[in-house]
Amino acid sequence: MTVDQSHDELHAQAKRREVTLVPGALVNLLEYDLESLTAFCQLLGEKRFRAVQLFRWMHQRGCANFDDMSDLAKSLRQKLKGVAKVVSMEVVSQHMSSDGTIKWLFDVGGGNVIESVFIPEDDRSTLCISTQAGCAMGCRFCSTGHQGFSRNLTTAEIIGQLWFAEHFLRKHLQRDDRVISNAVMMGMGEPLQNYAALIPALRMMLDDHAYGLSRRRVTVSTSGLIKKIDALGLDCPVALAVSLHAPNNALRDNLVPLNMKHPLEELMPACVNYLAHAPRDFITFEYCMLDAVNDSDEQARELVQLVKHHGHSVTWCKFNLIPFNPFPASGLHRSKPERIQAFAKILSDAGLTTTVRKTRGDDIDAACGQLAGDVVDRTRVAIRIARQRSVGIHSSPTAASTNAKI
Ligand code: SAH
Ligand code: SF4
Repeated sequence: MTVDQSHDELHAQAKRREVTLVPGALVNLLEYDLESLTAFCQLLGEKRFRAVQLFRWMHQRGCANFDDMSDLAKSLRQKLKGVAKVVSMEVVSQHMSSDGTIKWLFDVGGGNVIESVFIPEDDRSTLCISTQAGCAMGCRFCSTGHQGFSRNLTTAEIIGQLWFAEHFLRKHLQRDDRVISNAVMMGMGEPLQNYAALIPALRMMLDDHAYGLSRRRVTVSTSGLIKKIDALGLDCPVALAVSLHAPNNALRDNLVPLNMKHPLEELMPACVNYLAHAPRDFITFEYCMLDAVNDSDEQARELVQLVKHHGHSVTWCKFNLIPFNPFPASGLHRSKPERIQAFAKILSDAGLTTTVRKTRGDDIDAACGQLAGDVVDRTRVAIRIARQRSVGIHSSPTAASTNAKI
């Protein structure tokens, strides 16, 4: 996996994938966006409208059995049975929280599980989707990061989470209409590190013949892979969230190691440039509130300066403050509620739209950063984090002086 692919390479990956018929093997059709499915159907001698029908059966109706696809010719159904299948991952467990949040664990083989979380709210229902088994980025406050990286998910595994959740919920809630209105790539993994598989999955989320979600309601969250932010703007512009977590490079280097490769002076312009393609006129910065690490008044003011320095006004971004969800290995603590409020006030007094995220699904460990799953660390990221921990966090003079407990 490389961080530095050119846009041409990325763009080529995002284009239609190779569609082949492998003798004796069944192709999982959840792997294909509509364009690829059309190419697949053409290989079988079928016209595009057949691909549309098939696509709608799978994604709009949740049908995995070709025999049930009643308006497809019998001969085509027979043909499909010989070359294709529609399968999602096996559900290992399902936990329902008292607040309505549901967390599913899916088996992705090789001893790995990934997680998806359904979060119902009054005005929307969101599915939080994983894009990798584990994560190689090694952010210090993230339990997925501490678990290390195992592998990229396939397109079928990414879209399979929405496919399963949407159709499970329709049955469970006895509804015929769409249940999930928003999708956020904020589960396990760094979505832009899995660019080639992500883009077709995003296209399926947006496709009116599939889930028909609005671009504004599909969010990719990234720790800051800047070339891929640029590429996303061209290949499939959806809402963008960037995990900032620190107002300066010294602290961000420590919390989000990717910052050493792409520091703030590169990341911030990439965010501003994305606005030209974004479906909304702002991007969201996520900021995990860590007690005595990144939550001082001075750091809030530094953040305001950072935003002002890179944009003409402060309205080009919004801040989402996430109370840290602790896990023992992190050695970190959640900021006190009054500290979070004081921090938020400094941002909003400076004109920055700022929200504090409600934590959901606490009783079932479904909150941000707690999606750990069971991952085999193949990139030794856990060792790297352990080394970071022994160095400690030295950010700004204010943070350094309150660092003793870390
Ligand atoms: N890899 C992507 C998306 C997955 S993480 C990214 O980093 O953006 C989704 C969000 O949860 C990110 O903003 C991440 O920083 C945040 N997060 C991770 N661990 C957390 C924790 N323990 N408490 C609160 N937020 C956390
Ligand atoms: Fe990976 Fe995101 Fe966790 Fe960082 S915060 S380790 S990028 S999942």
